[in-house]
Amino acid sequence: MKRLSGQDRELTAKWRPATRAVRGGTARTEHGETSEALFLTSGYTYERAGDAAARFAGEQVGMTYSRLQNPTVEMLEHRIALMEGAEACRTTATGMAAMTAALLCQLSAGDHMVGGRAAFGSCRWLTDTLLPRFGIETTVVDARDPQQFADAIRPNTKVFFFETPANPTMDVVDLRAVCDLARRHGITTVVDNAFATPALQRPMEWGADVTAYSATKMMDGQGRVLAGAVCGTRAFIDDVLLPFTRNTGPTLSPFNAWVVLKGLETLDLRIRRQSDNALEVGRFLEGRVPRILHPGLPSHPQHNLACKQMDACGPIFAFEVEGREQAHALLDALELIDISNNIGDARSLMTHPASTTHASVAPDKREEMGVTEGLLRLNVGLEDAADLLDDLDQALGRAGL
Ligand SMILES: *Cc1c(COP(=O)(O)O)cnc(C)c1O
Repeated sequence: MKRLSGQDRELTAKWRPATRAVRGGTARTEHGETSEALFLTSGYTYERAGDAAARFAGEQVGMTYSRLQNPTVEMLEHRIALMEGAEACRTTATGMAAMTAALLCQLSAGDHMVGGRAAFGSCRWLTDTLLPRFGIETTVVDARDPQQFADAIRPNTKVFFFETPANPTMDVVDLRAVCDLARRHGITTVVDNAFATPALQRPMEWGADVTAYSATKMMDGQGRVLAGAVCGTRAFIDDVLLPFTRNTGPTLSPFNAWVVLKGLETLDLRIRRQSDNALEVGRFLEGRVPRILHPGLPSHPQHNLACKQMDACGPIFAFEVEGREQAHALLDALELIDISNNIGDARSLMTHPASTTHASVAPDKREEMGVTEGLLRLNVGLEDAADLLDDLDQALGRAGL
């Protein structure tokens, strides 16, 4: 493999984010292929026994086994790290594998973690169910209020874990305030940046230590594969995360890595267009539905904060109708927009979180998170916005709105 300009640190440092997304991390074989090569191999061979020994001893550069290294996966890791402005990145099989690894690699029995209360359902399961089983205490706070993080700190607090914007209520966390607070107390911040992606928000610029991704969402962007990623300092990725992932095996398939590499080439274009479409759809719904939660609209209580830390507000937002019955009626009346719990797709998708993504969260915790019975979450795709408005107009009418 020939290292290309995409792996030259000095050159890539000068590139703007959209260029990094297209070219970052690319390496070519002797064939000089334009598009990244797909290495579907689980293992590697050695010229001599001494080479194998040297590689295992870390004295010779080279790959040993695809749970640990793979050329296609490495290209993706380089690219994501560059887009993030991070020293290093490690990919995983899914977003949840990334979240689980980012937390378990650094927490031990007796430690304490503070988590944001509005979160992806499985992230809440980690904080509420899995970590306590291993003697890791967690406190869940309203992450919109930095003071709640401050009040929750204990002598054994090791990690702050939150999403911004958060799924599905679009709570926005003040990255600067919360990351500064964590720094002062020697606490590591882990930010789930799946909704914004590095194309719209780079939490490390505001002081975050670790960012974690579901690359399944906007990074693939076309609803094809599952993938995840964790970014951090070289020391965090190599010395803290890697011992955990190499021995527990949440490794990303080279095929899926290749698909995400292709997805990243168009991420900037897609996410900006989808953000514009989402704003247009949000403006249409405002006033027509009882409540709308869209950080791009001035009516959102954290609109100014969202504008400060994000380049655009992304394709996802939520709104409320009267209750579960009306929410389901609206979904059933849709003709263009699909009923789907996925997000980040180029297709517009709508879901009722209380009966799908957040059904596993206890009803009282759901209410507390703001996942009400009438809440609907919309992922706005790349269709012509006028067609989306037509579909919503007729579906709202049929649902009695
Ligand atoms: C989807 C999602 C996850 C989980 O990612 P998977 O790739 O589905 O495992 C985690 N956090 C957020 C915010 C998500 O939207």
